Amino acid sequence: MSLLIKNISEIYTMDKDFRKIQNGFIYIENNKIKNIGSDHAELNTDNTDHIISAEGKIALPGFVNCHTHTAMTLMRGYADDLPLQTWLEEKIWPLEANLSAKDVYWGTLLGILEMISSGVTTFCDMYFFMDQVAEAVKKSGMRAVLGIGLIEEQDGEKGLNEALEFALNHQSQSERISTVLSPHAPYTCSPAYLCDIIGLSKEYNIPLNIHVSETKKEYDYIKKKYNRTPVQHLENIGLWERPTTAAHCVHLDEKDIGILSKYEAGVSYNAQSNMKLGSGIAPITELIGEGVNVGLGTDGASSNNNLDMIEEARTASYLQKVKHEDPTKLNLEKTAQMLTGGGAMALHLQNLGILKKNYLADIILIDINKEFTDYPHHNNLSNLLYAGNRNKIDTVIINGNIVMDQGDFLFLEPDRILKEAEMRASNLLKK
Ligand SMILES: [Zn+2]
Repeated sequence: MSLLIKNISEIYTMDKDFRKIQNGFIYIENNKIKNIGSDHAELNTDNTDHIISAEGKIALPGFVNCHTHTAMTLMRGYADDLPLQTWLEEKIWPLEANLSAKDVYWGTLLGILEMISSGVTTFCDMYFFMDQVAEAVKKSGMRAVLGIGLIEEQDGEKGLNEALEFALNHQSQSERISTVLSPHAPYTCSPAYLCDIIGLSKEYNIPLNIHVSETKKEYDYIKKKYNRTPVQHLENIGLWERPTTAAHCVHLDEKDIGILSKYEAGVSYNAQSNMKLGSGIAPITELIGEGVNVGLGTDGASSNNNLDMIEEARTASYLQKVKHEDPTKLNLEKTAQMLTGGGAMALHLQNLGILKKNYLADIILIDINKEFTDYPHHNNLSNLLYAGNRNKIDTVIINGNIVMDQGDFLFLEPDRILKEAEMRASNLLKK
């Protein structure tokens, strides 16, 4: 299978030099980029299976959503304006107790529709009924990093065995699915439980995904209980020695930042969720300053309330400017890098998130003549992230396959998904 995208107005490679190619082409064979450059006339395209002419469009690597609970789309708008613990304990957890496997399947598909349409080509998901999430990923053409969320009191040893089995089973089932072990957080998992998870991570070479230091309440609780900050507590039990993606990291001291840097942990910065739940502003500028790999995440749709990564990126950037009262912080290029290759690195994924030869062919095409805010064309990337919205996403390619073609989904039926999601969300309240 080969695909040529030609006459692309501008290619943003997102490589370390932030190289751009004017009027360029990308040639894909199977799931990888085989050639990229500025003059496709030199290519022999006689045997190309499919050609896209991309005049008036720019190309970027697909966006990476480093932290979400996709099926929570079913709870969008159900419980707003509450503190995290009240929101979880009184609203979300009781409703989640009613979820069936099929609810999770359809809720995940609703989230995937929204993510693909906003340019997301990879997401990292921590939830339950993850077999159903994997099915939705396979059907949709998406790429994902999946792990069953583990809360010790609910899941215990049985849950841990299931999480391991899921991770091992799905590691090789699809080249678009990677797996992780996902302890929920240091305040819901004891050191002994976490040590068991770390041991399995080491034995079977499976990375970790965990919420860390999301709220001041968690920070104070862990500090009081273990006499260490959450990051230092996790260092003490050896967690950072494993490849880990830590979500949130809002409350950190200087030593914590040094630890995350030293162990090459990935961090998911979830600005909108942290804002909506009043959790605080993560020290992202400082983390980047110490060389930590930071990506962006939406978190679940009931604490955001959407999975739109363009909106997330804009908020993420502006929030750092507000925090430091300095407009130079988290600039456009760095934000775009976090949205793409930085996100892939934060998830410990190889050969992803940069448009270059032999990298995975996850590519989005963006129409730059569609909205009023596309004009004038001083800077198309600025127009996209600082002025644009997801309506500008025209075509989405994942693993070399077109999954959305000029706004049309090739593997999903939006009408059916919307109907099922609506029906299942209203039934959840009746259970
Ligand atoms: Zn989360």
